[in-house]
Amino acid sequence: MSTTLSPPAITQIPILIAPNQVLKARARAVEDRDADIVRELIPRMYAAMYAAPGIGLAAPQVGLGLRLLIIDLKPNDKHEPLTLINPEIVAVSEDLATREEGCLSLPNQYADVTRPARVKVRYFDETGAKKEIDGSDLLSACLQHEIDHLEGILFVDHLSALKRNMIMRRLAKEQRALQKKESAWK
Ligand SMILES: [Zn+2]
Repeated sequence: MSTTLSPPAITQIPILIAPNQVLKARARAVEDRDADIVRELIPRMYAAMYAAPGIGLAAPQVGLGLRLLIIDLKPNDKHEPLTLINPEIVAVSEDLATREEGCLSLPNQYADVTRPARVKVRYFDETGAKKEIDGSDLLSACLQHEIDHLEGILFVDHLSALKRNMIMRRLAKEQRALQKKESAWK
């Protein structure tokens, strides 16, 4: 017989690093039959995002090809979690905005990305309620970046091939160095 003094630790859900085929695949819509896995996944995705830390995370980034994403533009402050299920961009502004973007699947890599300045997104929240949100500034970029993930698109796919290859090579080099360091600690 054994007694458990503390609840078992929830293992950290790993975030996939590019290049990874799951990150390149189109995610499928969340359906009623996915309710259990989605309910279980959402808090684990928030834990992984806050631990990273990051401001957005899409389900494919944790290996699940479902149209589900989370955003919190204030990860260090009073949290403002925003869960979007089956999000759909229903309108974009004509004017564009350029902003530096990064991605938890491309750690330490940043580049300026130009996108529509404002978007309107329709989605279902975690209770199944139909919602709509208008995003501008950082929220607009974040919504578009995360919805891109559901299409298998990374922010580097918006760059020239030259810039994209440069970033992917630098990422691969840094990841190799990291793995070497980690295996040296074992
Ligand atoms: Zn990303």
